[in-house]
Amino acid sequence: MMATGKSRDSTKSGPKEASSDTNDEEKPELCAGFKDVDAFVKYGLGAVLSATKASASLPQAGDEYDFYRSFPGFQEFCESQGDKLLLCMSQIMQYHGCRSLMRDRNKLTGVEERFDLVVDSNDAILERAGILLDEADGVNRSQQPVMPAGFQPPKIVVSSWNRKGSGSGSRAEMFRLLHAKNVARPQLKFKEKIDNSNTPFIPKIFIKPNALKPLPSYFTSKQSRKQRPEDHNVPAALADFIHQQRTQEHVEDMFAHPYQFELNHLSIQESLLSKPEPQMYKPITDTKCSFIDSLEDLVALNEKLCKLSEFAVDLEHHSYRSFLGLTCLMQISTREEDFIIDTLELRSELYILNEVFTDPSIVKVFHGADSDIEWLQRDFGLYVVNLFDTHQASRALNMARHSLDHLLKHYCSVDSDKRYQLADWRIRPLPDEMVQYARTDTHYLLYIYDRMRVQLLDTNHGQPGLLQCVWSRSKDICLKKYVKPIYTEESYLELQRKQKKSFNTQQLTAFRLLFAWRDKLARQEDESTGYVLPTHMMSKISEELPKEPQGIIACCSPVPPLVRQQVNELHLLVQEARETPLLKAEIDAQKKKGLTPIKKLEVVLFGPHDTSRVSDSDLPPFSTDELPVKQGLLFSEDEPRMDVDVQKTHSLIAPAKISLFEETETEIDQESLPVSRMKARRIIESFENPFKMYLPSSGVHVNKNAKFDPSTKIFEISKRWKLQSIEQQTREMEDKKKAKEEAKERAKKAAEERNKTKKSYQESLQNVATVRQQAAESAKGGGQKRERVPSEVEESTSKPSKKQMKSAEKPPKSDPPPQDTFKPFDYSQSDLKVFAGTKAKDNTQFDPNRQAHDHKKKFPKGQKSNSGAGNRSMSYLTGRSERGFRHNWPKR
Ligand code: AMP
Ligand code: MN
Ligand code: ZN
Repeated sequence: MMATGKSRDSTKSGPKEASSDTNDEEKPELCAGFKDVDAFVKYGLGAVLSATKASASLPQAGDEYDFYRSFPGFQEFCESQGDKLLLCMSQIMQYHGCRSLMRDRNKLTGVEERFDLVVDSNDAILERAGILLDEADGVNRSQQPVMPAGFQPPKIVVSSWNRKGSGSGSRAEMFRLLHAKNVARPQLKFKEKIDNSNTPFIPKIFIKPNALKPLPSYFTSKQSRKQRPEDHNVPAALADFIHQQRTQEHVEDMFAHPYQFELNHLSIQESLLSKPEPQMYKPITDTKCSFIDSLEDLVALNEKLCKLSEFAVDLEHHSYRSFLGLTCLMQISTREEDFIIDTLELRSELYILNEVFTDPSIVKVFHGADSDIEWLQRDFGLYVVNLFDTHQASRALNMARHSLDHLLKHYCSVDSDKRYQLADWRIRPLPDEMVQYARTDTHYLLYIYDRMRVQLLDTNHGQPGLLQCVWSRSKDICLKKYVKPIYTEESYLELQRKQKKSFNTQQLTAFRLLFAWRDKLARQEDESTGYVLPTHMMSKISEELPKEPQGIIACCSPVPPLVRQQVNELHLLVQEARETPLLKAEIDAQKKKGLTPIKKLEVVLFGPHDTSRVSDSDLPPFSTDELPVKQGLLFSEDEPRMDVDVQKTHSLIAPAKISLFEETETEIDQESLPVSRMKARRIIESFENPFKMYLPSSGVHVNKNAKFDPSTKIFEISKRWKLQSIEQQTREMEDKKKAKEEAKERAKKAAEERNKTKKSYQESLQNVATVRQQAAESAKGGGQKRERVPSEVEESTSKPSKKQMKSAEKPPKSDPPPQDTFKPFDYSQSDLKVFAGTKAKDNTQFDPNRQAHDHKKKFPKGQKSNSGAGNRSMSYLTGRSERGFRHNWPKR
């Protein structure tokens, strides 16, 4: 680690010091006492070696150590040395900008947490070492990002983005792909963990400026949620979800659009419907451009924006090395200034902009805000009230093309190109060309807004109808809600269908298993599914069903890192698929089973970083005329996405259902199980859902012992999960008796079927066994009714056997065989259809998706429908004069 730090310095002074072939230059000493890198490395390795030796000769854990420890001197020494080491590690981690709480000894899960920190830091440090080595290698001589592996770097001609004419040669020569091979993962620095769990998105908002209707108490009380026992080691949103599911409170509020009421009651000011005098933009060279990456600056910006009547906004996004995607940059332009906000750095602070973003008296101008609106919600809990979308205006005006490039050309005679649009926006520090590119996305937008309003009135003979239409469409975009990709048992079918290949049963099984593997790993590692295993490779593996792991590798070129790492796991999945009976697939019949809800769009090209699916010649030419629009379809000319009626699309989307603990009438497997078994199975599945991401799956990635190790998160979680009220237990015990009898009867009748399904069934039941046994045990010992209190958490970990269990509301009806290992249910077999709502009709559960398109919906019972216009949320500061000081902002 030290070496990394030093080598960074060395690359600063001269990037080629490490390579032997370029020793033509005389250099000063590398650092005190070391004439060159070799000397330093030799010394470093020597030091590491002796440290390793010393550590190996310490008293061994067990008797020897215990004996030594009985001497207070030894004990003291150990502690002081331990602290010293932790401090040292802390400092190294801090030096590398990693999170470091190494010295916090008090935490129950301290060791594991610290271990995670070390792992994360090592990742970050090694990644950086990789970058520096590349640099030293000459891959990236300047501070510029590097090209993707295997990509022939074109002659780079970086010209001003708004260069006129094309004197600098062919497009191929000008093309410059801004992409870094090794960018530190910004996620590592996020204060709030990313929630990739397979649960619906819950708005992040906890304070609601400009409220006409107060924020439901569910959100305002979020800050005190730390007091709930289930919250500790799971992402906040997931903990909330579980808590709400248990208590069935606020469910409706949780999924509503927080500004739906305000948006529905938004009326456009008269002045915005009359003809403006277009205000010319300032030349970009005379315009101040500020980079905002501190809270102070953000607050100051917010203050500035408060005083304006309009400003322009745009975002830049990254989707390849993240499961859900990351908003990397926000550009804001006023008539006077440009601002570039580092949204990776200020991710948890950006919510303060809601004050201006939701202020109905300030117009926010975006171009093609569809995705931006979702990204703002997902990453920052930001909403927009009073939007003008120039893309919508372009459509209303029936312009030849609707891209921003076109508008820039048309109204500002500015030649732009979108060559940086797909750059890796996570790169920091941001190269100057990227900053320039980013600011031009908003710099001209207010002027375009003026010009378009004039034109909208002119083409409509001075009548405001057309302009009103644009305001209204813009408002509809604001009403969009972010929907998280939800994995269901049937998700794979839709994707498979798109492959336009007909698969037999074995191939289809492989596709299903690989799909589940990929989804799970992508969520776990926080990578896009395209990074884990591009669809075309997944399809190829399924098609070929390679007999050897090597065959799997051969299906992938280049081989995705996680495929290489888990090739044996993949091989097992392929083998499993090969063992299924071979039938001509009736895929069409299966397809008709139903559509799944919105998932992450299967992207043909994730970004230029995904070289896996394109050959060099296939890489998009990045010309303005032929944008490689695939994923976002932001400005595609041939794709009328923006025109699609929301109501129409609704019918294509199956509404999601939340019914964690509810018995769902899911479709039966091919092998029809007796009713009791099916119920048992469902219950087992319902056990799994909320914690799926946090439990080991089939014992592959997580040490099974972790389950029983009180210091692990998994242990805690599984214990907490087992907590439940005494009433439930008693009920359960009664039902259990019944279930036993019932199961015995069934067992006789269904002996045959059982044989068939025995194997998989017993696996699935292993889950329940311990839980049930513990329930029985605690029912014997337990007695008094208990309230969930935070102090119980500690207790629960120290005395696990006395804990009561939490189970599904419907008690199990079958008699599970006793087991002594906790083996969580296989992800791929879990029934997540409950989220998809494929069997929705007789379900009375609240349906968050349904509400998305029902803006006129009544308010939930017990809530005032309108607290009076102008009322701001109680929890929010009212006086404008007070705003802007840091201490005024509520702490998160
Ligand atoms: P823009 O609004 O043009 O600045 O685009 C915002 C973000 O959308 C970019 O940073 C990209 O991440 C993404 N994006 C834009 N166009 C495309 C495209 N054609 N394909 C994939 N992603 C895109
Ligand atoms: Mn945009
Ligand atoms: Zn942009």
